[in-house]
Amino acid sequence: MPWYKKLHWQIIIGLILGLIFGVIAAMQGWQQFTANWVAPFGDIFMNLLMLIAIPLILASLIVGISSLGDLDELASIGGKTIGLYIVATVIALVLGLVLVNTFQPGAVVPEAMQTELQETYGGDVEEREAFAEEAAERGPLDPFVDMVPSNFFDSASDNANMLQIVFVAFLVGVALLLVKREKAEPLINFFESLNALIIKLVEIIMWTAPIGVFGLIADAIVSVVGDQPGQIMELLGALGYYSAVVVLGFAIMIFVVYPIFLRLFTDQPLYEFFRGIAPAQLVAFSTSSSGATLPVTMDCVEKNLGVSNEVSSFVVPLGATINMHGTAIYQAVTAVFIAQVLGMQLDLMAQATIVIIAVMASIGSAAVPAAGVVMLVVILEAIGVPSAGIALIMGVERPLDMLRTLNNVTGDAMVASVVGATEGKAAPIEMQDGTMPTDVQEEEVMEEAE
Ligand code: ASP
Repeated sequence: MPWYKKLHWQIIIGLILGLIFGVIAAMQGWQQFTANWVAPFGDIFMNLLMLIAIPLILASLIVGISSLGDLDELASIGGKTIGLYIVATVIALVLGLVLVNTFQPGAVVPEAMQTELQETYGGDVEEREAFAEEAAERGPLDPFVDMVPSNFFDSASDNANMLQIVFVAFLVGVALLLVKREKAEPLINFFESLNALIIKLVEIIMWTAPIGVFGLIADAIVSVVGDQPGQIMELLGALGYYSAVVVLGFAIMIFVVYPIFLRLFTDQPLYEFFRGIAPAQLVAFSTSSSGATLPVTMDCVEKNLGVSNEVSSFVVPLGATINMHGTAIYQAVTAVFIAQVLGMQLDLMAQATIVIIAVMASIGSAAVPAAGVVMLVVILEAIGVPSAGIALIMGVERPLDMLRTLNNVTGDAMVASVVGATEGKAAPIEMQDGTMPTDVQEEEVMEEAE
């Protein structure tokens, strides 16, 4: 198959064309045209992914758990998964804190620019503060209370409640494991069939990914640049150093920390891991939502990284909702950056508080665009830094959201690979001719169609 027919290349082409179109549209003042004729393709793609996210969690988690041998196996997978999530999130936070304290990006923002940034983005802050205020007033166990829905259909009707669906599916899966096999069989068969259907739907939706990604990226650029292309240069000047520190954190996490985990616990060649997860990274970057990317992440983890459905169906949906390393790095750097700009010194105690609150916050925050900023306000309140300070960074929020979401899904895939390998449920897939398993599948589908 020529390279341009491969899906991940098509997505990359869509992304680059979207970027070029977005820049031209912003410079030519085509905001309205982009909103009317380009952005809807991105929205349709994102809606399609969201549409299958909840049925996917339900079917794959129930099938995954009910096909395990017994509860001991579940306890082993569950324990490893949660343990790895917490360890890696703490590493991400400490990494963020070390970087921001070493490079001190807050020290270089000129005072005039600070005032200007606060004036320009002050409006955006109020809305997020209102959300965060609610979150901050809650008790320490409330995130766990929120995880348990009182009405299944209520939670299934809102994608922000994904963690509740994970919980219900988990409970049903465990119960099915305990029910007599012949009684459980029809229901398991039903969910298996639903699972197969959803896997096919993911494939079909991914055919539209290049166009969807084009629409999403073009729209993102036009909305960030707005109608003042000159402003973006000024912003880059003031916030470039801060953004670079955040991005350096993501890069260290992805290219140093994850490879260490993968080397220690799996036999998977690193290039195979990165090539296998690339389609999910591209979709995460374009949608800024780990939740919307979930179907693609599952697909990549199973088909390209060779992790069994039993492991991936548990690890990936849970990871998409609670495991956010990119968000953790972003929050650590940003909280201290804002304090630095406002001339406040954060002692060791305050920095330790950031770690504790951010680990808790990552459980409660939804896998949707900008969720990290809402939780950032909670962190700022906890360490006594005025939360209006987030006005400083709102101008570069969207691109950083895109990158941290990419980091978040890479982290989920890493944990899935490690748990899969240590449970003996991952077989590295070796492709001799440089193609990816998804490409092979595409070929098969095309042949079948012919
Ligand atoms: N957009 C991120 C995600 O979905 C969450 C965040 O805002 O940090 O993973």
